[in-house]
Amino acid sequence: MKILELENYLVSLGEAKFRGRQIHKWIYQKGISSFYNMSDLPAYLRQKLSQSSQISIPRVLKQRLSMDGTRKFLLELEDKKRVETVLIPQAGQNKRYSLCISTQVGCPVGCSFCATGQSGFQRNLQAHEIVGQFLGSKKELQKRLKNTDDKLISHVVYMGMGEPMLNYDEVIKSIYILNDPKGINIGQRHITISTSGEASGIEKLASENLQVTLAISLHACNNNLRDQLIPMNRKYPLKRLMQAVEFYLEQTNRRVSFEYIMLDEVNIDRADADKMINMLKPMLANINLIPYNEVEGLSYKKPSPQKVAQFFHYLSNGGLNVTLREERGGDIEAACGQLRSPS
Ligand code: SF4
Repeated sequence: MKILELENYLVSLGEAKFRGRQIHKWIYQKGISSFYNMSDLPAYLRQKLSQSSQISIPRVLKQRLSMDGTRKFLLELEDKKRVETVLIPQAGQNKRYSLCISTQVGCPVGCSFCATGQSGFQRNLQAHEIVGQFLGSKKELQKRLKNTDDKLISHVVYMGMGEPMLNYDEVIKSIYILNDPKGINIGQRHITISTSGEASGIEKLASENLQVTLAISLHACNNNLRDQLIPMNRKYPLKRLMQAVEFYLEQTNRRVSFEYIMLDEVNIDRADADKMINMLKPMLANINLIPYNEVEGLSYKKPSPQKVAQFFHYLSNGGLNVTLREERGGDIEAACGQLRSPS
């Protein structure tokens, strides 16, 4: 909840407005989920709230720890549905993490290379459940690392399970809650929202006046292949998607990131590189190459390091601003496209 909503809620219970601010601080700054532990509230109010209200922060059911320090948490929501979040240690920044959060249980887009997409769609997450992943993960991480650093999680990426633009309103609300300087206080520039190419959501985001980074999962530069990889492309083919990106760039003047999963024998030959150079060179864009992380039951393969390097050079020699994303968490199925919602 935003501060204003909490203040209004307390007023609706016949209490003073400032109590809402106190509770907001306990939940969002201190991660406290029991009214009884809110020591600056009078005893009668703690009891009243415990009887009338509930703070629900998803419970961490399971953790897997990668050799590279990446952690994957399985979280359980109130209705027992489960989502996964991933904590990735930041390069060069001691003990600070990026949190990759989910916006849906499962995903309706059904990308053919993605474990989430293969497991179907169950429901959208509400803003409090999206933010709850942050609070639950932070608390668990602090406990496991015995580190109470308030800024232990410094970045948030909306790249977990689900297509954020198909749950647009709740995603935007969650961004405002995460960003609130009186609460969790994650800077907007430390937030990335990723989409498989939902053009109408990109256009709406352009008008939000947010400083977040937009990342677009591209993965192919021709419609035939992109249709096979990302079914969203049938609704928003490349031309339509690029119109939305251009609109976003005009409105925000913010650099856009394009994510490109490298699939062996599928999308990394010279012709793919040439198409990408033609399409993206005129734009204010970064291209992140991600060598595929294999998923059990799917036939796509990770390319060899030589092929990865060759494709990288095609693109950078062609004038694109390209980076190779260091693989994180592949050994615990926490890498891009490997998340699931186990029951
Ligand atoms: S890659 Fe993203 S959009 Fe595609 S199915 Fe997986 S979670 Fe959904």
